[in-house]
Amino acid sequence: MTAPSASTPLAESLATVRRRLADALSAAGRPTTGARLLAVSKTKPATLVREAWHLGQREFGENYVQEALAKQVELADLEGIVWHFIGPLQSNKTREVADHFAWVHSVDREKIARRLNDQRPEGLPPLEVCLQVNISAEPSKSGVSLPDLPALAEAVLAMPRLRLRGLMAIPAPSEDMGAQREPLARLREALEALQDRFPKAPLDTLSMGMTHDLEAAVLEGATLVRVGTAIFGERKSPR
Ligand SMILES: *Cc1c(COP(=O)(O)O)cnc(C)c1O
Repeated sequence: MTAPSASTPLAESLATVRRRLADALSAAGRPTTGARLLAVSKTKPATLVREAWHLGQREFGENYVQEALAKQVELADLEGIVWHFIGPLQSNKTREVADHFAWVHSVDREKIARRLNDQRPEGLPPLEVCLQVNISAEPSKSGVSLPDLPALAEAVLAMPRLRLRGLMAIPAPSEDMGAQREPLARLREALEALQDRFPKAPLDTLSMGMTHDLEAAVLEGATLVRVGTAIFGERKSPR
C-alpha cells in the first residue's frame, strides 16, 4: 500500500503530539531524544496502527490481550513494530504477553513477574519490564506501593528472562500542572532511589505522561510517554 498523505486526521494529530513532546522537552531543557512516544492504540483498529506506522511511529501500547493479538496478526508485515503491554495483567494472560510483547509496563507483583519469567520463550530476548507503582496511593488502583517497591525490584532483577527497565504510573487525573507534577515527581524519585540501590541494573525508563499530563511528565523526567486520545481520538465505550 502507499503511504497515506500528510493531510489525514491521524497525520495531523500525530504531528501535533510530536510537536507537544518536542516543545515539552525543550521547555524542560532536555535533549530532543530524551523521551519517546508510545502510541496507545487500545480499542482502535489495526488500520489506524498501520497508518501511524507509515508515519514513522514504531512503538504501540495495548491494554487488552485478545484485542492486541488480533492486531498483531493483522500487522505482522510491519517491520520494526514494537508492542508494549500496558494494561492490568492477570495470571491467566501472562503466557500470551510473554509470547507476543517486547515490553510490559504493568508488573506489580512477584507472582506475575515469576510467571512472565518462566514463560518468556528462549528464542526471544528478555522481556523489558516496568514496575507499575500506585503513586497516588488509591486503594482501588493497581500498582505496587512505594514501601513494597524495592523488594519487588530486587526479585525481578534476579529473574534472567526479564530486564527491569524502570517504573510506570497512572496518577489520579488533575487539571492543574502543579498537582499533576507532584505524583510524577514521586515516581522519578522512586526510580532514582532504585538506581542508587541497584547501580548495575538497566533502569533507564520512566513510563509516565498521557494525553492530559504529557507536559508535566516531561518536566519530571519521563522517558516514555503513553499517548492515546491525542493521537487516535476519543475512545468510544470504556471496556
Ligand atoms: C489508555 C492508556 C493511556 C493513554 O491515555 P490517553 O489519555 O488516551 O492518552 C496511557 N496509559 C495507560 C496505562 C492507558 O491505559
